[in-house]
Amino acid sequence: MSEQRLVRRMDGYFRALAPRARVLVFQLPLTFAMAAVVLASPAGWSGLFDEPLFAVALALHAALVLACFLVPWARLGPLAPLVIPVLDLLAIGLSRSGSVDGLPDVGVLSILPVVWVSTSGVSAAVCLSISFFGPLLAGLPWLLATGSGSAPDRAAGLLLLSGMTFAVSVALRFARLRVHQEQRRTEAKEAELQALLADSRERERLLNTILDTVDVGIVAVDAAGRRLLTNSWQSALEKSAAPAGSAQGVQESQLLLTGPDQETPLPLERRPIRRASSGESFADYLVRFGEAPGSRVVSTGARPLQGDDGGFRGAVVVFNEVTGLVDALAVKDDVLSTVSHEFRTPLTSIIGNLDLALGDSTELSTTTVRRIEVAQRNAERLLALVSDLLMSANSTVHVHPRRTDLASLVEASLGSAQAHAQASRVSLSMDLPDPLWAHVDPLRISQALDNLVSNAIKYSPGGGRVHVSASTEGDRVLLRVEDAGMGMTAADAGRVFTRFFRSPAVREGSIPGAGLGLSITKAIVERHGGSISCSTRPGCGSTFTLELPAEAAPPAF
Ligand code: ADP
Repeated sequence: MSEQRLVRRMDGYFRALAPRARVLVFQLPLTFAMAAVVLASPAGWSGLFDEPLFAVALALHAALVLACFLVPWARLGPLAPLVIPVLDLLAIGLSRSGSVDGLPDVGVLSILPVVWVSTSGVSAAVCLSISFFGPLLAGLPWLLATGSGSAPDRAAGLLLLSGMTFAVSVALRFARLRVHQEQRRTEAKEAELQALLADSRERERLLNTILDTVDVGIVAVDAAGRRLLTNSWQSALEKSAAPAGSAQGVQESQLLLTGPDQETPLPLERRPIRRASSGESFADYLVRFGEAPGSRVVSTGARPLQGDDGGFRGAVVVFNEVTGLVDALAVKDDVLSTVSHEFRTPLTSIIGNLDLALGDSTELSTTTVRRIEVAQRNAERLLALVSDLLMSANSTVHVHPRRTDLASLVEASLGSAQAHAQASRVSLSMDLPDPLWAHVDPLRISQALDNLVSNAIKYSPGGGRVHVSASTEGDRVLLRVEDAGMGMTAADAGRVFTRFFRSPAVREGSIPGAGLGLSITKAIVERHGGSISCSTRPGCGSTFTLELPAEAAPPAF
């Protein structure tokens, strides 16, 4: 333990004592020393008790010890007990008998009262004066008494003693000063800590109030996935999805969670808090809490928490209820699906009858034939639109992938777009390995290709060239449909796969369309485990790239 800490600890002990005990603690060492001299005197210094000054000294000391016990120090001022060490110095001075040979210099005991005075709260000037002049004055009777040694020798001894007690007092004052400074610093630090603590409690209360006021669920977890915080909204949500009869505070693994379709139970590793705990960052991840009726769809998102070293320290997961929105979308899709379905049957009948009417064109005038053809084209367009609406209203696209030659699909798609391309003064070309095997549903991928090729022609209003190319990269096939048409801005390209999106330029240019083709194409490609991307620049054309699973060539027989 350092000297400073030792002094501080001693100081603490003394402060904790009652005033009487404190006085006694200081007085007792001197009492013991005096008692030792008295006990040893019959053997060592037999003439000591004959010395009148020594007897007076003993009586004075005994009276001081009694005073320590009897005086109500607590009622007197804090400096009152200092009268004891001052009188102690006098008793020590009187006890120094110059006439008894071989008696050790008991004047050294003056150090004990000096320590007492030096560690008290008395001012430095008083303390140092007592330390120097106390032993000096108290030693005068001894100096003046006739005994062993010359008077100058004794005067020198007395001065030496006073100098020594003065030096001890100075050292103690410095130690005391340091302890006080240290104490003040510790107190200031403690006050600062208390203020910080109060401030952080205040912030915590504010944060908790905010967390419990917002209409979203918030969960914070540490790096090990342990919960640090769950706000009241989230607790209520979890309670609504807890299995019947379960206790409070169920784990995420016990909650009844499904995908938004309300059928597929969510595997543990796909649950939002588990995903967040493994360091994943995600947004708009839809999860259904609880069982129907009364289940709730929640959009979840998570962000990892990083430490100063950039390491993973945990995550915050946010839960936002979107049941109303999802239900409204489902109703809208239902209406769309029913209406489209109801339109299909009469439209098919109209097209069929127009076909039959055209079959007997010999009886019809040329004008009537042209009018029927216009009606037939428009009915076919309407049927295509209704089919698109129907498909986009069905959230799941069913695909049946098998080994398929993409080159022949592209060739067929370009063949059927030929008339449209010619009318729009667009030339079609392709550059594909033949055959090009992929693991896809030929009907669905033809539909996707038709969409891309017809868009490429449609959005090249000034004519130009549409080129389809492909390459194989590992187990993927990349299929590109490229045009040199009007292109799009980056903002439009970012929304191009959203249902019903049509770029402002296209809307202003009155190019027909419903904004469904690309969202259907994307759904088809993603159902194959593939992806679609678009690179484009306004006025410079666009390239749509499909990434699809490749397939090995069939074995040769
Ligand atoms: P539609 O063509 O019926 O409007 P799509 O979903 O096929 O619907 O396309 C959505 C929008 O994307 C189009 O309206 C158009 O603004 C833009 N777009 C699609 N393909 C192209 C293309 N090749 N060049 C320029 N813009 C395109």
